[in-house]
Amino acid sequence: MKRRKFLRSTGQLGIGLAVVGCAPEISEQTDQTATSKPSGSIAICTWGFKDGNRIAGEALDAGESALDAAIKGVSHEEENIANNSVGKGGRPDREGNVTLDACVMDSNGNAGSVVYVQNITNVAALARKVMEETPHVILAGDGAEQFAYEQEFQKEELLTPESKEDYEEWLKESEYKPIINIENHDTIGMLTMDKNGDIAGACTTSGLAYKMKGRVGDSPIIGSGLYIDNEVGGAAGTGLGEEILKQVGSFLIVELMRNGMSPQKACEEAVMRTVRKAESVKDFQVCYIAMNKAGETGSYSIHQHFSRMEYRGGVNQRIESDYHIKAEES
Ligand code: ASP
Repeated sequence: MKRRKFLRSTGQLGIGLAVVGCAPEISEQTDQTATSKPSGSIAICTWGFKDGNRIAGEALDAGESALDAAIKGVSHEEENIANNSVGKGGRPDREGNVTLDACVMDSNGNAGSVVYVQNITNVAALARKVMEETPHVILAGDGAEQFAYEQEFQKEELLTPESKEDYEEWLKESEYKPIINIENHDTIGMLTMDKNGDIAGACTTSGLAYKMKGRVGDSPIIGSGLYIDNEVGGAAGTGLGEEILKQVGSFLIVELMRNGMSPQKACEEAVMRTVRKAESVKDFQVCYIAMNKAGETGSYSIHQHFSRMEYRGGVNQRIESDYHIKAEES
């Protein structure tokens, strides 16, 4: 069945939303923040997804749009079965089903998202199809999967022998407790700026390992796992999705940048919202990356060991992130 293409008006709103209760400070760039003119061809992503980030950066250098590059970069990681927290090879829920979440935003403020998708590897590309081919923003579960087949995505087994083996090991104790290291937090959130200086982004994950059936985290939720405003910049989150959702973290960061904060300071403030509100942050991780319209970048987390990949000027490097709980340093 052929779907009618749904065209949107993408007029610039030009409205600066103030975040209630936030008192942003105008800050200098910290040494965590790379500075540059708005040169374009910048890709940053959460964690150490170096190949995906390089692929996105090279696509930008070749003149591809920010959205094309972001999808290309994260698709590589979705297809890479060596990582077990994104796409094929992702860890399953506690019943053994791999369910994927993803979202994308383009430079015109359009957004697409899919949640609880089974049997489809490239869910970021599928989220893009939701954005471009339907009148909706989010499709879930069976509906998203059915739409994927209509868009000629292939059905695939997402549970690899390695993830299955880990799952069977986990079943012996069946204890679920969010932990702070990257073992079960490893979403790829990517922000890209193309040669025109336009910004887009994508976020894709299998979510928390051994999550409850039906659980959806922050990653596919526009404003939480990802937010882009091409007038200001973009942000993406990773870590315990429940905590990111409660702060609408990525939207918060973009609004803080709109009000004058550097990407680094905005990431710090978003993390500190969680730190101030949670009873204890000992047992979970929250991390953000951000980029503004000037091509400045930043990242911050509660705990040590978060990093971002950053591609600019043809160089793809891993930047260790600053973090809140310094006592963890050994
Ligand atoms: N934020 C993701 C979630 O809660 C997990 C992650 O970042 O690895 O689903």
